[in-house]
Amino acid sequence: MIPQITEKPQVIALFSQGLDSILAIKIIQQQGLKVHAIKFITPFFGYEIKGHEAKFCDQVKSTYAIDLSIIDLTDDYLHMLAAPQYGYGKNFNPCLDCKIMMLSQARILAETWQAASIVTGEVVGQRPFSQRRDTMRRIEKLSLTEGLLLRPLSAKLLTPTKAEESGLIDREQLFDFSGRGRKPQIALAEKMKLTNYPTPAGGCLLTDPGFAKRVKTLYQEAEIPTATDLNLLKFGRFYPLDKASDFIIIGRHHDDNQQLLKTADHNYFILHLADMAGPIAILKGNKKELPLAAEKLRRHSKAKNLRSVKVEWRHGSESGSLTIETAQD
Ligand code: SF4
Repeated sequence: MIPQITEKPQVIALFSQGLDSILAIKIIQQQGLKVHAIKFITPFFGYEIKGHEAKFCDQVKSTYAIDLSIIDLTDDYLHMLAAPQYGYGKNFNPCLDCKIMMLSQARILAETWQAASIVTGEVVGQRPFSQRRDTMRRIEKLSLTEGLLLRPLSAKLLTPTKAEESGLIDREQLFDFSGRGRKPQIALAEKMKLTNYPTPAGGCLLTDPGFAKRVKTLYQEAEIPTATDLNLLKFGRFYPLDKASDFIIIGRHHDDNQQLLKTADHNYFILHLADMAGPIAILKGNKKELPLAAEKLRRHSKAKNLRSVKVEWRHGSESGSLTIETAQD
C-alpha cells in the first residue's frame, strides 16, 4: 500500500478533508517543507472517492496546492472491526484501533520515504475522547509514532517532536489551539486566505447509531462482511435474516433504488415488480428466501393491496419470477 510518488516528501500528513487538516498542512508548507498528504478510505469514511481517486487528488492539488494519495484500508479495517483490541465507542466505532491503524500505516510510509514527521490536524480537547491529551499520548505509543507525530495546531501545548528538536520544523511558528471552539482555526484560515474550505462533513458512518446497528448485525456471524455488503447497508430499509450476515434491503425511493442497483453485484439477488414501477429489493442469502424478499417488496410498493403480484428476480446470469398470492379475507 505504498503510493507511487515522484519526489519523496520531508513530511507526511493525514488529510481528513476538513479545515483543521488543511491548516496543519499549510502551516508546515509555509515553513518551506515538502509535504505529501494521505487520505485513508473505507466503506465508512471517504468511500465516495473510490474509483475517482485521481480526479479527487487533482482537485485537492488545484484547490489547496496539496499533494495527496488515497489509501484504501478496507480489507484490514473490516477484519479489525470484528474484534478491535481496544473495543468500540458509543456505537460500533473502534476509534482507538482505527487511529492506531491509520498512524501505523503513516509510520510505515514515513519510514519508506524517510520523512521526518507525520502531521495531523488534531486539536487538543476538540473531541471528548480521542483528542484528550492522555488519549493522544496513548495513541502515539500504541502506533509507535512517539516523537514523529506532530499536531501543528496544538503543538505548543504538547511535547516537542524530533522534527522540532532538530530545527527542521520551527516550533515558534506552530500554534496552541485547544478546545471545541472553531474561532482560532477560522481566523487562521482567513489569515492564510483560505476561503473555499469544506464545512465539517458527515464524517464517519460508524458513529451513526442507525447505520452502526446494521453493521453490528452483520458482524454477529463469524464471516467478515464485504465492502459491497456494507455499501448496500447505506440505503433503504434493512431486514436481517436468520443468518445474521444475510439480509433483505428494500429501496425507499428512486435514489435508494438507483444506488442499490449500482452497488449490488452478481452475489446478490435483485428483485422488482414485473408489471408496475416500484422499489428494488436486494437479497443476500439463499434462493429459498426469495418469497420472503418478494413479499417485503410487495408490502412496500403500490401493489400492497393486490391479491396477486408477480416479482422478477436476477442473480448473476440467472433470472426468474415468482408470484405472491395474498390470502383473501
Ligand atoms: S470516528 Fe470513525 S474514522 Fe474517526 S476514529 Fe472513530 S472509527 Fe475512525
